[in-house]
Amino acid sequence: MASKGTAVITGASSGIGAATARRLASEGFKVVLGARRTDRLHDVVADIGPSARGIHLDVTDTASVESFCSQVGDDCRLLVNNAGGALGLSPVGEADESHWQTMYDTNVMGLMRMTRALLAKLIDSGDGHIVNVGSVAAFEPYAGGGGYNAAKHAARAVTDVLRIELVGKPVRVTEVDPGLVETEFSLVRFDGDEERAKSVYKGITPLSAEDVADVIAFVATRPSHVDIDQVVIRPRDQARVWLVHREPS
Ligand code: NAP
Repeated sequence: MASKGTAVITGASSGIGAATARRLASEGFKVVLGARRTDRLHDVVADIGPSARGIHLDVTDTASVESFCSQVGDDCRLLVNNAGGALGLSPVGEADESHWQTMYDTNVMGLMRMTRALLAKLIDSGDGHIVNVGSVAAFEPYAGGGGYNAAKHAARAVTDVLRIELVGKPVRVTEVDPGLVETEFSLVRFDGDEERAKSVYKGITPLSAEDVADVIAFVATRPSHVDIDQVVIRPRDQARVWLVHREPS
């Protein structure tokens, strides 16, 4: 299969990022995976084979982003800004500042740092594409979601700004907004509390990481002139962030 060029996927040590790396490799991209847990990253890379590379990346650290991006080839034409997540579910009145800061630093500043570092390569490729993994939390506020809602709303604003700034340049900009996906997301949000994390998906069939990877691969493999601006993908049982039908157990 002819190579489609290089795709960079952040947050590829688990969940949506790992599934996206696998899927894009199967579509003919060379894939460069970034995350902090390099042991996990290298397991995914070993699984994919020679078209994959894993490099340590902390999107909250500018030096780490620059070092990572300097190792990405000039044939880079796809950036999937996926690294992110939520911490806690406290009301604003009880907000944990460090949680809010980390969520902003990862979901918003991380997206900016990666985009800034790779934009010239994406433009020079003549057929660049930035896919930002947002969330339904980017447009549906919910109680306890303050810090995460604020971060994903902000990331969405940056995505829109990028689309405006890049008009006339050969770079597409897409936002993929998932609802409930069963990954390590809730485990991280609830600080390793497995029971609480499991309860998020109780009585429903949530999306899988592969379901979201499927959408990312779809938008990334349309013809160059086709820019899919935004895709919202939820489980059938979820009408809003806060309106979920659960079968009694
Ligand atoms: P996940 O399984 O927890 O994966 C999150 C990934 O982000 C991990 O690979 C993690 O790797 C990486 N990451 C976190 N902080 C990072 C940092 N500072 N630098 C580099 N990588 C970092 O959760 P997921 O569901 O796949 O989440 C992926 C994206 O989907 C996130 O942006 C999340 O907000 C979004 N999303 C998820 C859901 C859902 O229900 N699961 C719904 C809507 C949107 P390391 O810890 O190894 O660095």
